[in-house]
Amino acid sequence: MGYNVAVDGPAGAGKSTIAKLVAKEKGYIYVDTGAMYRGLAIHFLKKGVSPDDRKAVADACKDAEVTIGYEDGIQQVYLNGENITAMLRTEEVGNMASKTSVIPEVREKLLELQRSLAAEKDVIMDGRDIGTNILPGADVKIYLTASVMTRAKRRYDELRAKGVKCDLDAIARDIEERDHRDMTREIAPLKQAEDAVLIDSSNMTIPEVVEKICSYCR
Ligand code: C5P
Repeated sequence: MGYNVAVDGPAGAGKSTIAKLVAKEKGYIYVDTGAMYRGLAIHFLKKGVSPDDRKAVADACKDAEVTIGYEDGIQQVYLNGENITAMLRTEEVGNMASKTSVIPEVREKLLELQRSLAAEKDVIMDGRDIGTNILPGADVKIYLTASVMTRAKRRYDELRAKGVKCDLDAIARDIEERDHRDMTREIAPLKQAEDAVLIDSSNMTIPEVVEKICSYCR
């Protein structure tokens, strides 16, 4: 059994940035589970499946194989053998992933992949239901959050830095919508595990959050 650190929290809380740095510091493998949901979302987009048609989404899961690999320590996502990592981080893919992650067959599809990675290796895994559902016995559980406005501003700055035109209020609304969907879905909703450490990063720097998480880890 590997040493397992679970990091959950809402969209834009900085989970992946922080988890990557902790992984480097501690020598763990970083597992980004959101990227797996995004990988399946690309499959649904390619097939032209509507996220509202649950049966069509469930059917489409049958001919999708999502796998994970590492190149220079960076997680790569493969969909039916094709490396789709470069396509994962668009708004379109994020929205499709958010909408389809409420569907039981979608979650079921990715559960074993996530558990088997953690069983074999020392990992820091981020997502929405890692501490509560995927790895309930994780050695360390962190619930990382920040205010809606802080998260929206971070996303806004990130997009602006890439030269993308965007609107702060629209981003904040989108974040609230995603939070609501993630927190109210029937299966494995986003919530803090009873034994998770709560970290609100609204007024913390990245190194401060990394140091705090490292202090709980072996
Ligand atoms: O974290 P990221 O934005 O990449 O995740 C994409 C979507 O996948 C999220 O909006 C969330 O609804 C879903 N997700 C999930 N469970 C996870 C990771 C992500 O439901 N463990």
